[in-house]
Amino acid sequence: MTTIKEKKKKDETKDGEYLITYTRHLEKRLRNLETEKQLLDAEKLRLEQELHSLRNEIDRLREPPLVSATVIDILDDKGRAIVKSSTGPSFVVNASRKVKNEKLIAGTRVALNQRTFAIMEILPTKLDPFVKGMEVIENIPDISYADVGGLEEQVQEVRETVELPLKKPELFENIGIEPPKGVLLYGAPGTGKTLLAKAVAHETEASFIRIIGSELVQKFIGEGARLVREIFNLAKKNAPTILFIDELDAIGSQRLKIATSGDREVQRTLMQLLSELDGFELRGDVKIIGATNRVDILDPALLRPGRFDRLIEFPVPNEEAREAIFKIHMRRLHVEKTINIKKLISITEGATGADIKAICTEAGMFAIRKDAAIITEEDFIDASNKVLNKIKDTLQSSGLYA
Ligand code: ATP
Repeated sequence: MTTIKEKKKKDETKDGEYLITYTRHLEKRLRNLETEKQLLDAEKLRLEQELHSLRNEIDRLREPPLVSATVIDILDDKGRAIVKSSTGPSFVVNASRKVKNEKLIAGTRVALNQRTFAIMEILPTKLDPFVKGMEVIENIPDISYADVGGLEEQVQEVRETVELPLKKPELFENIGIEPPKGVLLYGAPGTGKTLLAKAVAHETEASFIRIIGSELVQKFIGEGARLVREIFNLAKKNAPTILFIDELDAIGSQRLKIATSGDREVQRTLMQLLSELDGFELRGDVKIIGATNRVDILDPALLRPGRFDRLIEFPVPNEEAREAIFKIHMRRLHVEKTINIKKLISITEGATGADIKAICTEAGMFAIRKDAAIITEEDFIDASNKVLNKIKDTLQSSGLYA
């Protein structure tokens, strides 16, 4: 028989156990609730972020469209500038405070407020479709120095100034001299300037970008300066690159009295070119080769040290050079073995490399017309007469040949 005292003690023990179990249960519940709270907090945060980004999206969609434009000139350091809008007209505008004035330079692409035309932001430089589609010849069709006839000195000089710094920059670093940034090839049309530039690009395995000065200023009015900038960027991106600027005189002729807006356009393009040349790393792996037929009218600023400071003349080929060029272009032709090449050389006085190439092609045409399998000396003589007379006629009608 249990006594009352014992019963009481038993009940107390039971109560104690019950309380412990209940406390444990409550603790577990609390932990579950805390976990649940954390999950809900995280979900709340996620939804808040989503709400925020949706609000931003709504704000962005509500913003009025901006007009894209190109900065043409900076008028002062407070952000006043002349811009040419993509719709055509030019405006004098102010820049918003958000825009950093130092980033505003001629040629920058900007976005304008539609109503006030204020510059609202600077747009990232996008490669112009013209620049994108430009002639970036990565693998130059097999043109080597062996294809350049009669220009030994010129080849030697271009190799030293363009090829060597690209292939062995350490030579210049060790000695401590700066290789020339740009070389300028000058001489009559068809004397092999482009040919040699392509040969260097091929031999150095560099990309070759060819731009034509007159196209920059005529086709892309108002855009010349920007294009120059983009072309230099493209050249850096494709490095090692040889940037060949043909008809440099079209953008780089002497600054005479500026009369028309066309002149101003040329001027701006030239200024941009000068600043690109100045901002260029000397030992970088982009080399610039300029070419012109009119070195006499070039702006002296272009020829200053650090710009096109090496001038290489391409003369009209003399007898020896003509022989070398004839041999190069005859290499692939089926030519009579008995041909007297000296005779051809004597009758082609004054012919350029391009003329000689044309003579070879024309001689081939004469042979084809006769249904012959081989080109004879007579074909070459006929071809020379035809090609050179045609040139003489053209020169005479333009008053350049007395
Ligand atoms: P332009 O000033 O009109 O641009 P250019 O001096 O750049 O003329 P090229 O385009 O190099 O002349 O020459 C035209 C073509 O004539 C060449 O593709 C080449 O076939 C031939 N030619 C010119 N000069 C030479 C040369 N020295 N040796 C071999 N071929 C030549």
